[in-house]
Amino acid sequence: MIREIVTYDIHRKDNPEVLTNKTRKVKDFHAEETVECITDLNDTLDELIRKEGNKRGAIGLSATQIGIDLAISAVTLGNQRYILINPVLIEEKGKQRLFRIGCFSLYEYRAMVRYNDDIVIAYYDPQGNRQKLALKGDQSCVVQHEMDHLIGDLLFERLENKEKDLFIPREAMYRDGSVPIENHGDIFESLRSKGFTKVISPAVWYGSLFNDYTDYFAYVEKTANEYTYLLDLVRRYTPEKGRIIEAGNGTSALSVALSRNGYEVLYCGSDADMLELAKRINETNGTSVSYQQNDIYRLPYDDEHADTVFSYEVLETLNNAELASALEEGLRVANAYVFLVPTIAIVANTLRGNERLRSVDEWIAFIEKEGHRIKEYKEFDNGGYVIFVIA
Ligand SMILES: [Zn+2]
Repeated sequence: MIREIVTYDIHRKDNPEVLTNKTRKVKDFHAEETVECITDLNDTLDELIRKEGNKRGAIGLSATQIGIDLAISAVTLGNQRYILINPVLIEEKGKQRLFRIGCFSLYEYRAMVRYNDDIVIAYYDPQGNRQKLALKGDQSCVVQHEMDHLIGDLLFERLENKEKDLFIPREAMYRDGSVPIENHGDIFESLRSKGFTKVISPAVWYGSLFNDYTDYFAYVEKTANEYTYLLDLVRRYTPEKGRIIEAGNGTSALSVALSRNGYEVLYCGSDADMLELAKRINETNGTSVSYQQNDIYRLPYDDEHADTVFSYEVLETLNNAELASALEEGLRVANAYVFLVPTIAIVANTLRGNERLRSVDEWIAFIEKEGHRIKEYKEFDNGGYVIFVIA
């Protein structure tokens, strides 16, 4: 029988205790409650896989999640279903690492949790035979998460920092990328009121740079060091003393760094406050970046005006239609577009709140669907960021 999933609401105090109590060990493998529990776990997990898919090759459900306090989990690893009765961890061979996981009982959330990535477990199968299973990577993570369910740990015990490591994934809000960016306000406001996200305007984000900060020379040095690889790529695709456009919405620090290198640099951004700060940084550095205010998908330059256009941490804030325009516009005004974006693999709370995160594969598919050629790309920070050069 397909059962309803028991869920936990972190904003409520009266949550179902079955999710947070330790389960009973199975003693009689042929008892009616054992057999029924296994059947219902199988049926319910089948239904979940039918609805949600088995995206990462491992998916699980535990008895507590269908309201039964028995130490039984069902997991599908690859194409095979395992029923784990009274499972125990007998060997940890790998290293602890952070996994990004979801749980059907905490449906809207994702969490960063630490598990060993190479383990061996022992368990009983439905016939009562003792079995062993060696697990690695995502499969290791899923099975350890299910075992946590059986001791009543929903995953909270695994969080090093609840505020930071439990979050609502932003991809859920823009799965089709079709939500106009101005409509994000309400969604993010409602999330912010729950304390799980934040939307920060660039001007607030760069707050101290606006006010008391004056060492803009050091600031440019520091930023240029952080983005060395991006700058190297921009230089590689630009002839000496060539022309570069930054399609941005930030401080123009990298434009200033490139201007110091003798390139002719043009900067276009839409945020008036940021432009004012960017100009101040340029002046203080004695460089000669020229500034224009406009959306980056309507760059105020002629066709093939520049050798290279670049952006960093900007394109991920655009919806699909805007992104398509921005890429086309970039390649209209320049021969190559170099850009850096965060991906879905980033830990979300380091973001500003208006990102539409895509996986690296989704970025590749999008760029190719738009008819552009990827000349090269490189992932950074465990895939949390990616740089593309497209033409
Ligand atoms: Zn779970």
